Amino acid sequence: MNQYRIFEGLFKEFYKSENVIINAEMKKYVHFRVGGPADILLIPESKEQVIKSIKICKENNIPYFVVGNGSNLLVKDGGVKGVVIKLNEVKNINVYDETIEAECGAMLKDVSNAALEKSLTGFEFACGIPGTVGGAVFMNAGAYDGEISHVIDSAEVIDNDGNIRTLSKEELDLGYRSSIIMKKNYIVLSAKFNLKNGEVRKIKEIVEDLTNKRESKQPLEYPSAGSTFKRPTGYYAGKLIQDAGLKGYTMGGAAVSEKHSGFVINKNNATAKDILDLIAHIQNEVKKQFGVDLHPEVRIIGEDKK
Ligand SMILES: Cc1cc2nc3c(=O)[nH]c(=O)nc-3n(C[C@H](O)[C@H](O)[C@H](O)COP(=O)(O)OP(=O)(O)OC[C@H]3O[C@@H](n4cnc5c(N)ncnc54)[C@H](O)[C@@H]3O)c2cc1C
Repeated sequence: MNQYRIFEGLFKEFYKSENVIINAEMKKYVHFRVGGPADILLIPESKEQVIKSIKICKENNIPYFVVGNGSNLLVKDGGVKGVVIKLNEVKNINVYDETIEAECGAMLKDVSNAALEKSLTGFEFACGIPGTVGGAVFMNAGAYDGEISHVIDSAEVIDNDGNIRTLSKEELDLGYRSSIIMKKNYIVLSAKFNLKNGEVRKIKEIVEDLTNKRESKQPLEYPSAGSTFKRPTGYYAGKLIQDAGLKGYTMGGAAVSEKHSGFVINKNNATAKDILDLIAHIQNEVKKQFGVDLHPEVRIIGEDKK
């Protein structure tokens, strides 16, 4: 039973009715294309709506969870209790001098394009990461020797008391796929990035080169959440998985990609359970064969199906 439905009216007072979705099938909203229903899915279009929604959730003890573009999320088959706030319509981007200020739901690709348009360099690394600014700050996303910590100036956040604060780069405490946002459960409303004046031709060249690398090495034709595991110190997860003989290994509709063993993909109408079972199997085999612990990079939320 959806016990949170009674709160629908509180949100409909300041949302368009189509942006308050009851029993929303999360598989439609995340890259992996798996996951049961969220009791209430909110799609805010402004920071003010985000702030007000969080306030209502706190005041009424409604559990809430924020989602950016859903590109690093595995939602379990039993769905998510309470409110899911999908932020990718809060997406303004402003460029001034060598600074870009982007709202939490802006796609990294769009920030990268905005940088290119103003011949600013430094953000090219993120052009192919299919996430939002908020999701990227949350996990200090990175690729090809670049990462958010190299370019971020500060982020505007909602802290646990509901206060809006600006955190400096140091206060964000960005490490390998970690941040203070992750540790303290803050919400990113926007972030400022410091870039440098560059040459449009060179920026374009880097973006094209990184896009080609991604397309040739990653199974972009299948739903996934990118690299399933964090890089264990001294190893590469993909190589360990391949050496364990698991390339192409399937469980239900989930499979280890043939193209890149670091990716678990939704090959054929997988359930979240198929993916979780495969993740556990990979962890066991790699531990058994090489003594290395693999930790998921993908965030796992929700409940098992009863
Ligand atoms: C094909 C593919 C390739 C990928 N390649 C890379 C890569 O090269 N490098 C890399 O780092 N990642 C990569 N990823 C993973 C993913 O794109 C990144 O982790 C991205 O930063 C996630 O952003 P998102 O908006 O989709 O976050 P979501 O998946 O929506 O959420 C992930 C986590 O971030 C939290 N979150 C989201 N927005 C906010 C916010 N505003 N405030 C607080 N918390 C928030 C969520 O609560 C959740 O815990 C890849 C994924 C795919 C599918």
